[in-house]
Amino acid sequence: MSQKKFASHADVEEKRITFEKLSDHAYAYTAEGDPNTGIVVGDDAVMVIDTQATPVMAQDVIRRIREVTDKPIRYVVLSHYHAVRVLGAAAYRPDHVIASRDTYDLIVERGEADMKSEIERFPRLFRAVESIPGLTWPTLVFERRLTLMLGRLEVEIMQLGRGHTKGDTVVWLPQDKVLFSGDLVEFDATPYTGDAYLADWPATLDAIAALAPDKLVPGRGAALRDPAQVKAGLDGTRAFVTAMFESVKAGVAAGRDLRTIYRDTYAALKPRFGHWVIFDHCLPFDVTRAYDEATKHRDPRIWTAQRDKEMWETLEG
Ligand SMILES: [Zn+2]
Repeated sequence: MSQKKFASHADVEEKRITFEKLSDHAYAYTAEGDPNTGIVVGDDAVMVIDTQATPVMAQDVIRRIREVTDKPIRYVVLSHYHAVRVLGAAAYRPDHVIASRDTYDLIVERGEADMKSEIERFPRLFRAVESIPGLTWPTLVFERRLTLMLGRLEVEIMQLGRGHTKGDTVVWLPQDKVLFSGDLVEFDATPYTGDAYLADWPATLDAIAALAPDKLVPGRGAALRDPAQVKAGLDGTRAFVTAMFESVKAGVAAGRDLRTIYRDTYAALKPRFGHWVIFDHCLPFDVTRAYDEATKHRDPRIWTAQRDKEMWETLEG
């Protein structure tokens, strides 16, 4: 294995953006595997789900929203706390930034460290990083479930279980049967599991499947436009999460060290998942968290810019 550039430093190519209508009220802003943004247009207001990484980048989302509606953007929902999804929030000037209690707690505990870590991991995804005014603070914090009526449109904001993080939040439109999953579901993109609860993640995917969405906007990758595509997204995410965690647990049971387990897991997963975007970026973080969860860390440890680089050197150096 030749030495790889840190995280996403080899990823310099701009992606093509797609803004598509999924139902009477739902739109998806996607970019070939870069972080997605969801849009809900209600009777009297617009909701944005995940913001893009910077306010300057969010301006492109706003421009596209203004091509389909002039209703005010009143709500931003954070699917979870990761910087690359939440630090563009200021651009929308929303009345409320909505997050789960667990996401709020993570921002308090590790938001600052995560911001520095992610900015160094993804140089291309923090365009105009100087436009970020600081951390994005929720103004409306819920536990388990919050129902918002956008006029006659019912919006369910729900925590269905832990997976990608402990605070994972999905947005569900029961009338349109459209779900915005955040990074709980990816499509043709590698799940990042550095802050995950791997043992819990499959049950949370079951809870999403139980809603029987007709359409689903994943955290990364194309919008899933029918039940067969939704199933493919759920199945692919489950297959990766399960295979990765099983490989790491087998290595731990055999008494192998983390570097050896990483190499074995990389070799085992590469043929099946290596074509998904950010595979080489994610896998060192993913295996490190899986090793922690399989050994002595029930909760994910905080990633700092320094810990990121030390881990990379240990596994890839
Ligand atoms: Zn994330």
